[in-house]
Amino acid sequence: MLLRKISNLKDTLLFRLTILHAITFIILASAGFLIFYFRIYAITMENIDEELQADVEDYAEIMTESGVEGLWADISEEIASENPAEEFYRLLSYSGDILKTTDMSSWGSVDLHESLSELKANKTEPILATIRVPDQDYRARVVMAAMGSNMVLQFGETLDEAEEYLEIFRNLFTLLVAILIIVSTGIGWFLARRSVKDVDKVTQTAEEISMGAYDQRVEIKDQLKEVKRLGITFNRMLDRIQGLLRTMKEMNDNIAHDLRSPLARIRGIAEMTLTHDKSFTDYQEMAVSTMEECDTLIEMINTMLDITEAEAGVNKVKIESFDLVALILEACELFRPMAEEKQIHLKSDLPKTLPMNNDRKKMQRIVTNILENAIKYTPAKGVVEIEANAQDGHAHLVVKDTGIGIAGADLPHIFDRFYRCDQSRSEQGVGLGLSLVKAYTETMNGIIKVNSNINQGSIFSLSFAQ
Ligand code: ADP
Repeated sequence: MLLRKISNLKDTLLFRLTILHAITFIILASAGFLIFYFRIYAITMENIDEELQADVEDYAEIMTESGVEGLWADISEEIASENPAEEFYRLLSYSGDILKTTDMSSWGSVDLHESLSELKANKTEPILATIRVPDQDYRARVVMAAMGSNMVLQFGETLDEAEEYLEIFRNLFTLLVAILIIVSTGIGWFLARRSVKDVDKVTQTAEEISMGAYDQRVEIKDQLKEVKRLGITFNRMLDRIQGLLRTMKEMNDNIAHDLRSPLARIRGIAEMTLTHDKSFTDYQEMAVSTMEECDTLIEMINTMLDITEAEAGVNKVKIESFDLVALILEACELFRPMAEEKQIHLKSDLPKTLPMNNDRKKMQRIVTNILENAIKYTPAKGVVEIEANAQDGHAHLVVKDTGIGIAGADLPHIFDRFYRCDQSRSEQGVGLGLSLVKAYTETMNGIIKVNSNINQGSIFSLSFAQ
């Protein structure tokens, strides 16, 4: 149980951040301590060596002034009050013979042959060495210097005081580092806990949402920058999901509503035909009506699929070169009979050509939908005008009509799926044309704008990069 808890903890961000913090601190603190310690060690040793060298100079002077006996008398006086285990002196010949020595019983044999021959070669520079004192846990610093032309003075002192002092430093630093490690682990844990707590909140909200609380949002306040960004992105994603859910719901309602009418009509036709004695012509008429209703349904379903595909980015833009003017003229020809039937004056103001590089088929559907609407929602004897021009590397297209217009309150909704303004309900349609126009315009990186006044007419303006 405890083992599992520990192993679970090991995989948490909190644990890893805390450990990372502690390890970083241990490495930095230890490196800092080592640098500081070795600096103190070097300074201490330098001081000891300087003192020993100063002693050598003093002894050399006494030797010159008072000879060997004078030197040894001075040394004997100096050592009289000292512990022989802490200091020693001896005078040697270059061949290694001991001429004079203090009590060296606690020093064992101090090897000197190597230093002697070195000194022989260079008599001016004293030689300093650190040796281990037998049966003691401290070391000693020993100096050897030429005294006159045929003698060597060797003297040494234990480093126990310096080593003790360095040990106090070591112990103090170890204690300090240990305390700092505990404190830094605590601080690391606290900091990690703070950031992880905010991430936990995001997770908690995600869990609540997965249980159906779609209105929940991550509270954005004084979190760390990254967590705040995560929260904002998460909330934005939720807004989008909620928006999509709402659209889906509205779409479902609309589909149910809009499918129900044609299906009810098909059923009505079939029922009428069944319940009365009918001639062959009546059956033919029923078949024609049924086919018309089915065509409406199929067209509606296909348009819905096209919109969904365009919005989801499944149906990629197929770039090709085409002439927008030729495309507009084709559309005009297609709708001219419809316009003529309503005695609508269909005019155009177009350049000779307007080359474009974009999705031709999508552009065709955009133009036909807008043109069809303009003719459809313009009463008899009205005017529909289509203009196109190129400006700043963009192709601009404007469709104006003198039709029924769109009320200000309806304008923000005309691109919604199945939205139909009240005053246009007498005309045939399902409210999907402009949704498709908008979805296609956006996939083609174009812009669409509408300007309209009720009973005065509408202006649809579009622009696309050429
Ligand atoms: P549909 O024409 O099938 O109803 P659309 O999506 O093409 O669907 O248009 C949505 C609504 O916008 C229409 O029902 C109509 O109310 C309004 N509308 C579109 N174009 C015009 C226009 N040129 N003049 C007036 N109203 C328009």
